[in-house]
This record gives sequence, C-alpha cells and structure tokens, in this order.
Amino acid sequence: MKLNKIIEKEQVKSVKVLHDLHVHSEYSYDSEETLHNYFEIASKNNQTYFITTEHIEYMFIGTNCDWTVDYDKMIEELNKLQKEFPNITPLLGIEVGYHKENIEKMNKTINSRNFDQVIMSVHDSGEVDYYYADVALKLGENEFLTLYFNNVLEAVKTFDNYDILGHFDYGFKSAYKAFANVKLQNYQNIVEEIFKELIKKDKTLEINTKVQSALNDEHLRYFLNLYKNLGGKNITLASDSHEKKNYKYQFEHYLQIIKELGFNKLSYFINRQRFDYYI
Ligand SMILES: [Zn+2]
Ligand SMILES: [Zn+2]
Repeated sequence: MKLNKIIEKEQVKSVKVLHDLHVHSEYSYDSEETLHNYFEIASKNNQTYFITTEHIEYMFIGTNCDWTVDYDKMIEELNKLQKEFPNITPLLGIEVGYHKENIEKMNKTINSRNFDQVIMSVHDSGEVDYYYADVALKLGENEFLTLYFNNVLEAVKTFDNYDILGHFDYGFKSAYKAFANVKLQNYQNIVEEIFKELIKKDKTLEINTKVQSALNDEHLRYFLNLYKNLGGKNITLASDSHEKKNYKYQFEHYLQIIKELGFNKLSYFINRQRFDYYI
C-alpha cells in the first residue's frame, strides 16, 4: 500500500500554517484517537500538511512486547481522508524507540516505507523505563539522569537513520517530578555533547510541548540558549499529542519563547528532506 501524495515544489514553499510534527493516533499502541478527528482540526487550521508519528518499539520494557503499526491499513485510511479533505496532504511519519540491540530492526522498518520524517526517541534502556518518577526516586537523581543522558548520547552517536531527536529531556521530566530541585544545568556537559552530535550530523532538535509544559519555561530557555550558542539552528515544535485536544498544545506560548530567544524558523520534513518555515 502506497500513500497517494503528489507534492509540487510550489506547495512545499507555500506552507501558510505549519502542522504539528509529533502526533499519535489509534495506530499507535497507546492512543485511541482517530485520524479523522485530527484531519477535521487540520482542515479548520487551514494546514497544508498533516502527519502522525506512530510508535515503533521493539520489546518495550513497559509492556514487554513489540509496539508495531499496521501501515497498510493506516495508508488506506489516509488515502481516503485525502479525498475527503482535498486541501490537506497527508505525510508519513514514525517515532522509533532507540535500543542498541534493535538497530537492525529499526533500520529495516524505517527503510521499508517512504517515510517523510523519522523521530528517534529514547524511552527506556531495556532495563530502566525513563517515564516513571518512581523509577527516578528509586535510583536517585544522579544515577537516573546520568544513565538517561548517556543513553541519549549513545543513541545520537550510534544511530543515524533519523531526522529529529524526540524529547531529549523526556527522562529529565521524570526526575523533575521526583526531585523538586533538579536542574538541567548540573548535566550541562553531557547535554552539550548530545547537542554537538546533533549539530555535527545535521539533525534537528524537537521542542516537545507535552514535556515542556510539565517543566518550566526557564528550563526551555536554558537549553535552547545552550543549543543556539553551540551553533544549533534546526528545531521542530511538536505536541506529542495522543488525543485531539492536545494537537498543537500551547504552540502560541512556546512560539513566543522560541522567537524571543532569536530563532526565526521551524523545520518540517517531506521525503526526509528538511524545509524551513519562517516564524
Ligand atoms: Zn516519545
Ligand atoms: Zn510520541
């Protein structure tokens, strides 16, 4: 099954309303939202494109099973939705969970379809699930965050077949819930190493509004400044919504901060190629 998308060069340039770059629907293991509901919102927003980035996880520790996606069924539905909403071009995305031992499987899945955009995320180490504040409490702040950031650093150094690093501060959010005084500043060296690797490999950093809204704006200002000072230019803004109510969650608020910090564009991807949307 192939996605029926014909994208003219002019269309790429004429994006007036940028889409959300990290979205889950019922094709992901942990979402029940329909694509149709999202398309209705995208249509009201006058968006040019719509993308979901469904989860692929091999032996996810939280469930002890693979999280897969029925792409044939999904693409069939996207092709129907394209007819119902002719002004919106659907794109095909994926959020792949990094595990060193699954790199071959990750590559096989990513190369098996014409994805427009690949997000790589680190959700667990194979032994530690970074989602839970309880896990952070049990390990202690330093051990938990050192393990987490080293895992992210290993991912960006080892794996290459992706466009965007998803929520680099996913584990930090759990530590923040567990320990009131935790500061990203205390992990600056390793965060810098992660950012330098992204910049060197010309990858894009995600601003994940779900994670940001669980932290505080100072955290965002701090790491975006750090990224910028290291030469980082490419960022995406994304909600990581699993329900339609969170589509483009708090985008206006975070756009304001991004602009204040001197960024003048956001990235989006078509056929794994990066484009600029000026803000
Ligand atoms: Zn994720
Ligand atoms: Zn996600």
